[in-house]
Amino acid sequence: MSRHWEPVVGIEVHVQLATRSKIFSSTSVEFGAEPNVRANLIDLAMPGALPVLNEEAVTMAVKFGLAIDAEIAEKCVFDRKNYFYPDLPKGYQISQFELPIVGRGQLSIFLEDGSVRQIGITRAHLEEDAGKSVHDRFSESTGIDLNRAGTPLLEIVTEPDMRSAAEAAACFRQIHSLVRWLEICDGNLAEGSMRCDANVSVRPVGDESFGERTEIKNINSFRFVERALNYEIERQIDVLEAGGEVVRETRQYDATRDMTLSMRSKELSDDYRYFPDPDLLPLRLSSEFVARARSTMPELPQQKLERFISDYSLAQPVAVRLTRDPSIASYFESTVALGADPQLSANWLLGEVAAALKREEKDYADIPVSSAQLADLIKRLQDKTLSSTLAKVVFEHIWTSDGSVDEIIERQGLRQLNDTDELRTLVQRIITDHPDQIEQIQSGATKVMGYLVGQVMKASQGKADPRQVSDLLKRMLNI
Ligand code: ADP
Ligand code: MG
Repeated sequence: MSRHWEPVVGIEVHVQLATRSKIFSSTSVEFGAEPNVRANLIDLAMPGALPVLNEEAVTMAVKFGLAIDAEIAEKCVFDRKNYFYPDLPKGYQISQFELPIVGRGQLSIFLEDGSVRQIGITRAHLEEDAGKSVHDRFSESTGIDLNRAGTPLLEIVTEPDMRSAAEAAACFRQIHSLVRWLEICDGNLAEGSMRCDANVSVRPVGDESFGERTEIKNINSFRFVERALNYEIERQIDVLEAGGEVVRETRQYDATRDMTLSMRSKELSDDYRYFPDPDLLPLRLSSEFVARARSTMPELPQQKLERFISDYSLAQPVAVRLTRDPSIASYFESTVALGADPQLSANWLLGEVAAALKREEKDYADIPVSSAQLADLIKRLQDKTLSSTLAKVVFEHIWTSDGSVDEIIERQGLRQLNDTDELRTLVQRIITDHPDQIEQIQSGATKVMGYLVGQVMKASQGKADPRQVSDLLKRMLNI
């Protein structure tokens, strides 16, 4: 990116709320049914059918608002957003415009370099999703599937507070982590449970005012948010440097070509003729209702993160990764509660365990090793029964089969050779077998030491601890 331009980014995230039924009807929202099976008279927009607000969706929105320290509206209103589209038989979407349920709040985002930034959340409002046009099912016509119509969404809008594509991706990731944490969304990006619209403009560094922006619609991965924005930032800079103007428009990200394409010029809110939906009364939230929602909230990731840093002396980036997902955080905490060293537990969870999960395309919620087994393994590392090499072998055993760590160590003979006669005999043998190298070491070639340590490790079949071997070698050679 050119040094003379600064990007400005604000995002809008649509979060599918994990309610059992739709926002204004009793139809189930389960994913994967045959087309139009999950659509009743209200979802099909039959004339005269009346919407009834789902209390669960309201509670979820309130929880989100509380988690970002936002003002929860005492009174909010549902509006009709009017537009014509085949997947919207009513001719309008029920949304919220002037009086959203959640007002201004704050979100901390964590960047790769360990820094933290506060991002303003402008608002979050409840709305219903539309249906879906199906283009690949019939050869000469388009099908309409209304299963998704009426699915509850929370649209979260941020302030234009981000200054790079990476920050925008981090913000999307943070919202993803927060809504999963609150259990108000399953976070399944592949199934469309969360989508991000990214608004971006560029301005000369030092300018106060913002430039004209474009909006990239419906991005469904953290990586694509970053890539789409980086492309779009470069494109806008090119346009401006060539003396042109950025046009306010909606664009689409094409992942295979890694570029954004113009979709349509942007509608202004005037075009939608928003007005309060006469079928729904204004929603008034009592302080008791809000208090009840608050009482069911777990410790928030931000609080947990701060506690992990202060209680366990973890580095901030480590604590960030451990609190990205509730299942990994609680796994970590139970491992530590069982007596495992916090630093080692963090290393294992983010290292070996994460790698094994990735290999098998599993989630932290599906770790086949119990936290008790992992704690035992770490304790055997701490008391030096196991070297780190051996611990990895034991780990593979507990990953694929049940059984206690100690049993596996005994059965497989995986005990580390500590500073015992056995290890000393082994070291002595290597010394005797390598007179040339010993001579080199004694005349100052310390690098050869590594070779000898390697030989001992090999002879011990990985059961010795390299640091102990090195110490022992030095002692036995009087250096
Ligand atoms: P609209 O009415 O078009 O939806 P909003 O004012 O609601 O516009 O803003 C939508 C999003 O665009 C917000 O996330 C906001 O932060 C962002 N945004 C607004 N102005 C700019 C700008 N000049 N550059 C980048 N993002 C912007
Ligand atoms: Mg908007």
